[in-house]
Amino acid sequence: MLSRRTWEAALGALQVEVPKADFAAWFRDATFVRAGGREIVVAVPTVFAKEIVTRRYREMVARAVSKAHGGNVDVTFVVQAEQPAGPPAWLADPAPPPATAQAASTAPGVRLNPRYTFERFVVGSSNRLAHAAALRVSERPGDVYNPLFLYSGVGLGKTHLLHAIGRAVLAQRPETRLRYVPCETFVNELLHAIRTESRGDRRRRFRERYRTVDLLMVDDVEFLSRTEASQEEMFHTFNAIYEAGGQIVLTSDRPPREISRLEARLRSRFEVGLVADIQAPDLDLRRMILHQHAAAAGASVSDEVVDFLADRITRNVRELEGALTRTLIYAELHGLELQPAAAEQALSGLGRAAAGRPPATAAILAATSRHFDLPQEDLLGKRRDARTAGVRQVAMYLMRNDGRETLPEIGRVLGGRDHTTVLHGCNKIERRLKLEDQLKADIEAIRVHLAD
Ligand code: ADP
Ligand code: MG
Repeated sequence: MLSRRTWEAALGALQVEVPKADFAAWFRDATFVRAGGREIVVAVPTVFAKEIVTRRYREMVARAVSKAHGGNVDVTFVVQAEQPAGPPAWLADPAPPPATAQAASTAPGVRLNPRYTFERFVVGSSNRLAHAAALRVSERPGDVYNPLFLYSGVGLGKTHLLHAIGRAVLAQRPETRLRYVPCETFVNELLHAIRTESRGDRRRRFRERYRTVDLLMVDDVEFLSRTEASQEEMFHTFNAIYEAGGQIVLTSDRPPREISRLEARLRSRFEVGLVADIQAPDLDLRRMILHQHAAAAGASVSDEVVDFLADRITRNVRELEGALTRTLIYAELHGLELQPAAAEQALSGLGRAAAGRPPATAAILAATSRHFDLPQEDLLGKRRDARTAGVRQVAMYLMRNDGRETLPEIGRVLGGRDHTTVLHGCNKIERRLKLEDQLKADIEAIRVHLAD
């Protein structure tokens, strides 16, 4: 039978066949996802890795798997969702950790991104204080800087530092009860608990979940300004944890005093520890980040290319990384040397797509479906599971932004959906793009194919 074993056997064979450096770069982190019929699905860590293995190695891999299986097998590569492989599941739920890593990775809730560690956070003058404070908090939670409040513009490393704190604390004290939550999730869960309060003790469960932790990390707290109920709940949550000697870390796009409609009592709580900001990276830091990102992607990028990109993109690390990913994929697809000229074309392709002839609807559907390995019928059909709906929303977003289609037309093409559904989908993707660099890379990769 086609199984994880088949993949492991094939991987053994590939290790002999593929040059050592390439194997380490592209296959070391490849993991078996599922097998069925005559197909095997393998996950790789990044969009770029997916492009490379698909283009360079798909046939070789298919041959190795077919041989291990003893019959023809097709191989599909997907990009791994950003989740840590192992426990602790109680990041999502304070129940005892499950027996297997498998169970942990399927538990609901927000996880720590395995890429967001202190080792992979590059320090420069613009983020030195925030980094030092975060490191200190991770070494001695609840001791100094409580709460630690980090603020900056988008894409400058706040979420990265939060996850890094979580990881470092768990590495030193695995028994720590910690919770990482985007503020939007906190607010939505609370509103849900309030609405359903009459039906039993959801609200109590909500409180237990947030108030009985040793380390609470709330991302993007400017979101609290939306409702009074959530400010009230945050106030009591904060006090409960603080008084029990727990650590609180918060992030926002602005300092506490500039968050509109934030109650004074919350503001003064937020300011009681250390408030530290992160500024836009200077040229040196941008260069270092690009070098690190390239190395992590398994690519070797010259100083000229790094300088070219570091010169062009100055305000946002997420965009800097996006530009590099786009350049790598572009050069790979067109068989170009990694030179500044390739980077220039890759980036100007972006401008062209925005200014010139918009990609056709059919092309967007095909490219999206291919990238996410989801049949086009599903995109156009009735399925509403989270994955299908998410991919469909990406298609909506691209049709609207890049394809310049109208909302009703997009709805019509996508199986007769209402224009408000389409608008909701596009807005959802826009919000997610501010937070999820994986999604950003996915969309970049689809755009590269569309510009072809
Ligand atoms: P924010 O939460 O401030 O919007 P993120 O933490 O999501 O920003 O960072 C955006 C992207 O930039 C992430 O991929 C993150 O890993 C990366 N990043 C930001 N700052 C750094 C840094 N100093 N070193 C390495 N990567 C960084
Ligand atoms: Mg963030």
